Amino acid sequence: MDRLKKSPWMLHYDASSCNGCDIEVLACTMPRFDLERFGIINTGNPFHADILLITGGVNHQSAQVVKQIYSQMPNPKVVVAVGICACSGGIFKDCYNIYGGVDTVIPVDVYVPGCAARPQSIIDGVLQAVELLEKKKEEAHHE
Ligand code: SF4
Repeated sequence: MDRLKKSPWMLHYDASSCNGCDIEVLACTMPRFDLERFGIINTGNPFHADILLITGGVNHQSAQVVKQIYSQMPNPKVVVAVGICACSGGIFKDCYNIYGGVDTVIPVDVYVPGCAARPQSIIDGVLQAVELLEKKKEEAHHE
């Protein structure tokens, strides 16, 4: 990864997770896996966020929230679906209230499968997201 001009700010939202993937996301931000060593900053504010990390499939309750968070984030932005539920709906896919994966309501850039997704895979997905973010910034600069 090339040197970055600013730290990527990351927002995590649980769209309907069983909490298994959320715990792994938390583990990534703790000292053992230490996502911050790559300059990633965790934020709760969509207006500050460059990377949106979503766990769980999208359901009738969370769909509007997911869309709103996405619309509040400044451009360019990158979305990472963490866990098979966020990728496709997973084992909850056919439930009455589930639309499916995150890409049923907003564009997804990086898919991190797994149940639960492992911290190593999540970190890999976030680093892919950082590279994509830099590409998007570069493209926006030349438009
Ligand atoms: S992928 Fe597995 S661990 Fe993650 S939210 Fe779905 S059921 Fe839970």
